[in-house]
Order: sequence, then C-alpha cells, then structure tokens
Amino acid sequence: MRVDLHCHTTASDGALTPPDLCGRALARGVELLAITDHDTVEGFRAASRWLQQQPEAAMTLLPAVEYSSLWSGVNVHVVGLGIDIDSEASQVAMAFLQDARGERAKVIAQRLEKLGFAGVYDGACELAGEAQIGRPHFARFLQQNGHVGSVDEAFDRYLGAGKPGDVKLLWPSLQQVVQWVVAAGGVAVLAHPLKYKLTGSKLRRLVTEFAAAGGRALEVISGNQTADGTAQLARICTDFGLEASRGSDFHAPAPYACDLGGCAPLPSACRPVWQRWTVIDELSRSEPPINEQPAAI
Ligand code: AMP
Ligand code: MN
Ligand code: MN
Ligand code: MN
Repeated sequence: MRVDLHCHTTASDGALTPPDLCGRALARGVELLAITDHDTVEGFRAASRWLQQQPEAAMTLLPAVEYSSLWSGVNVHVVGLGIDIDSEASQVAMAFLQDARGERAKVIAQRLEKLGFAGVYDGACELAGEAQIGRPHFARFLQQNGHVGSVDEAFDRYLGAGKPGDVKLLWPSLQQVVQWVVAAGGVAVLAHPLKYKLTGSKLRRLVTEFAAAGGRALEVISGNQTADGTAQLARICTDFGLEASRGSDFHAPAPYACDLGGCAPLPSACRPVWQRWTVIDELSRSEPPINEQPAAI
C-alpha cells in the first residue's frame, strides 16, 4: 500500500494548497495520506472537503497534525495520527500552540530587528497570511529582501539551531503534546528522529521518555535518509516494541527532496503503524455486514 503519513500544505509552511497537495498525492498513487501541518488541522479540513467532491479518488485521508514541543532543550516534533480533530484535547492543543507561535514570532522579530532587519515582523506576518507563522516565513522575508541568498542560508545564519531566531522556550513539553494526541484518540509518532542530531544514547533516552508518555510509533522512514539511519531506527523500534511510520515530510516540489509517497519502504522487521487503519478497512470490506451473517446453528 502506498502510504505517506507526513506532509505540509499552505496551512503551515508548505507550498501547495490542500487541494493541490491531494491532487499531487493522487497522481502519484498515494492510497493513504496524512496531512500533518504544524499545529493546525485547517489544511486537513480543506483537503477532506475537496476530496469529498472527487468521487473517483481512491485515497483515504487520515486526520493528523505535527505538534511542536520541547524536550531537554531540543525542539522535538510529534505527529498525531488518527486524532479526533474536534475533541477538547485537540482544540486546547491547537489554541495553545497557535498562541505560542504568535508570541514566538514577536520574539523572533525583535531579535532579528536588533540585527538590523527592519520590518521583519510585518513582512513575515504578511507572507504567512492565514497560515501558522513559523521560521520559514521569516526565512522567505530575509531572502525576498536580499538579506540572504536562499532560505537555507537564512536558517544557517539566523534561524537554525543555536542562532538568534531559534526561539523554542515557548513550546509545551514533549509529555504534554503526546498526552494531547492520546486524549484525542490518536497515535503519537516521534517525527524524523534523526533530524535532532542526537547521540545514540540521547536518542534512546528521548524514545524512552516518549514511550513512557504514551508515544507508540517512530518515523522509521522520513524523507530521504541514509540506509544506516533507517537500520538504526528500525533497531530502536524493535527494542522498544514500537510501531513504525513512513512519511516524506513534503513541503514543496523540489529537486533531491522526497516527493509525496516517494520515500523508501519500511524495513520488513517493522510493524507498520498504518495497519491500525488499513487492516480494519480491509476486514470491513471482506466480511459481510453483521445483519447478513448466517444465523448460528
Ligand atoms: P518552526 O515550525 O517555526 O519551528 O520552523 C520549522 C520548520 O522550518 C521545519 O518544519 C522546516 O520546514 C523548516 N526548516 C527547518 N530547518 C530548515 C533549514 N535548515 N532550511 C530550510 N528549512 C528549514
Ligand atoms: Mn515545516
Ligand atoms: Mn518536523
Ligand atoms: Mn513536518
């Protein structure tokens, strides 16, 4: 089954609108898709409205989100799959995080303005529009105003880990975001575990605390990663008895980046987290409805 359980739309920092993203996923043969915008489900809502109007579309959309959190000084991301988006926990989580993003944007802007970049707050807000504001909007502002040559350079010099625009103290704890996912009936997945650049022992400590908080799966495949990285994550998954997820973390069509549904398959030792949804689906298709079952003799 072609599965992609991590991608972004214009509701956060992605380049494609929800309908365009769904259209691209469909054209690429994706059968199960999770739109995981940062701290919002508005992209998912718009995509599911659009998909309902496409009767031919053979793709299931899983309600999902990517929450920002703070663990041991590291900005850790947790994907919530299969959440009830209207539950109280989801509403509380998103209100909290959207507020944190707004406050953080002011602090990022103050720091960048001190470095001499005037108008950065209004500029980044304008670029974000209705979307959840994040560092990529600041990066685009710096690029469009000629302060840096590329978005990558903006992160390297001003916004990436340890730089002035890397403001993370406003995020909730890892335990808190996992709890929000669990309380909303979803499955908490540790996003792109290799992106945090932790030592092997610190990564295992992160996974230990994530699992203790109620986390159930790791993104064993995230975008384009090395075979060694995949093997390391598969081992951790097995050691901790966790399920495995797979996602492109697609933000925009780009050379060398993983496209929707395009990343490597899970190693065979891994238990796919999506069986939680697809196995039930397959069973319900293959078994007759209850009221048509033959009576017991
Ligand atoms: P934020 O949600 O504001 O913390 O910003 C994090 C987002 O910035 C990530 O989800 C990526 O999409 C993007 N990002 C992080 N690091 C880089 C980088 N070095 N170059 C380009 N984009 C990045
Ligand atoms: Mn992003
Ligand atoms: Mn992320
Ligand atoms: Mn992401």
